Amino acid sequence: MAWLLPLIHIFLYYLIARAPVSSGWGIEGHVMVCKIAQEHFTNSTMNAVLELAGGELAPLCPWADDVRKQYRWSRTLHFADSAGDCTFQYSRDCHNTKGEINMCAVGAINNYTRQLQKRKDSSNNYNLTESLLFLSHFVGDIHQPLHAGSELDLGGNTIKVEWYGKNTNLHKVWDEDIVEKAKQKFYDDDIDTMVESIQINSRDIWSDEIDQWMNCSTKNFTCGSIYASESARLACDYAYKDAKQGSDLGDEYFISRLPVVEKRIAQGGIRLAEILNKIFDDDTGQKDQKLLKERRIGGVYQA
Ligand SMILES: [Zn+2]
Repeated sequence: MAWLLPLIHIFLYYLIARAPVSSGWGIEGHVMVCKIAQEHFTNSTMNAVLELAGGELAPLCPWADDVRKQYRWSRTLHFADSAGDCTFQYSRDCHNTKGEINMCAVGAINNYTRQLQKRKDSSNNYNLTESLLFLSHFVGDIHQPLHAGSELDLGGNTIKVEWYGKNTNLHKVWDEDIVEKAKQKFYDDDIDTMVESIQINSRDIWSDEIDQWMNCSTKNFTCGSIYASESARLACDYAYKDAKQGSDLGDEYFISRLPVVEKRIAQGGIRLAEILNKIFDDDTGQKDQKLLKERRIGGVYQA
């Protein structure tokens, strides 16, 4: 089977190159989440991911958006919209349009985590490359606040706004426009420079919070519901605030919301690494985890 992996990789690249991007963090948001995750992989995770993805993970992280048409069932897995009350409640909110339970981003994070955890079971018939790519994508999506927005406005999709005078909608502002503007204005139009800046903030101004980001002691299978609840709160406090139908959004909105976007990208990346490290670590990996933590505490992280 190993010989098939490079072919899958090429095929996936082909899909990404051809397919138009729809909603979700834009291509760059997803790639950044996964680039950050990669920096926090243990050696055993890195090896397992390289084998499953047939190469580097980050360029493949937008893939789930490109297969929405083929995999129609996957469409509602990109978000976890709520009833519009700034909270996420799994039993109430995690369903598709037919009311089928578990068909939201949080249900998908649980599902694909479970598939990867069972990778050594002989009865496991899942396509684990797809499981990895779906999981990596949906952990990114659930950190975009409007992916846990109100179902009444489809997570901001029906709120038409202007972004520096250009017609768009609020959902797209958060998926793509804020990231794009920041990249151009502050990071020399270079995604790696933006990732590096977010990493510096993680080691510097957010360093005290990282243990709490990774704290996942819940009786639920993963902490997806917590990530969705955080997004639902942020959607109300930052995304919807001062962005009514027809608003003209510019510098004031951009500058005050960019820190939220960058922090959510950092959280998405670090948490994705944590989930994958838990899945793929063996005994050596446990040692790796301890080492990684020591390096983080030391303030200088080197992959
Ligand atoms: Zn998506």
